[in-house]
Amino acid sequence: MVVAEDVHKSFGRLEVLRGIDLTVKRGEVMCVVGPSGSGKSTFLRCINHLEKINAGRLWVNGHLMGYRQKGSKLYELREQEVAAQRREIGMVFQRFNLFPHMTALANVMEAPVQVRNVPRKLARERATELLARVGLGDKHAHHPDQLSGGQQQRVAIARALAMEPALMLFDEPTSALDPELVGEVLDTMKDLARDGMTMVVVTHEMGFAREVGDSLVFMDDGVVVEAGSPAQVLGSPQEERTKAFLSKVL
Ligand code: ATP
Ligand code: MG
Repeated sequence: MVVAEDVHKSFGRLEVLRGIDLTVKRGEVMCVVGPSGSGKSTFLRCINHLEKINAGRLWVNGHLMGYRQKGSKLYELREQEVAAQRREIGMVFQRFNLFPHMTALANVMEAPVQVRNVPRKLARERATELLARVGLGDKHAHHPDQLSGGQQQRVAIARALAMEPALMLFDEPTSALDPELVGEVLDTMKDLARDGMTMVVVTHEMGFAREVGDSLVFMDDGVVVEAGSPAQVLGSPQEERTKAFLSKVL
């Protein structure tokens, strides 16, 4: 579902990703951990081509992100074509970014109606199902400021799912939440994983990684230092840098 091949990304002279290789298979959950500034968010943004990579290749769902390949040459896709690729990818951020003037239901309906021209009635039915799925069946009419952080984040997940993505990217989806609200969001993500969604999750929640992750990647300084099953990486890390990091967070 996701294949990264020698992905490089620089901002000016700062090389933030220095050759990332990894694969996420359909239906798998990959958790990504690493110190602040190691390039985790940048990597997620490269996956959906919010950032253009400087070298390497990134495929999502069989599409080379941002480019068309002819022979050995790459041609940049047009904006609309990139948008079509991006529609297959849902993203949930640390901050919920809901539309503040819209109800939960309207937030979830918005993209299908505006972007995919789904009839409102159908979009409403689907949004109703999705809100029920994330445990908010009774909060349709609430505006974001009438919802807790955990509820807002679950609306954000429902909103991303409304576009029927093939892949979901999560960038520290629980880091902005009060501790007592973290569990409900992780549970929603767990359900999603159980239903077979392919997910890449940047997180500090090692318990979630251990329980839900099919693989765990430790990134530092723009490279994948160590990758394997969560049990392997957390239980018997091989690299000094991984050991040092884990000793701080476990
Ligand atoms: P954190 O755990 O704090 O979220 P991270 O691993 O997600 O960190 P990134 O946000 O990917 O790290 O940032 C990696 C490096 O790239 C940092 O040094 C950051 O300052 C730099 N960086 C990120 N985005 C930009 C940008 N748009 N322009 C310039 N530098 C950037
Ligand atoms: Mg980040």
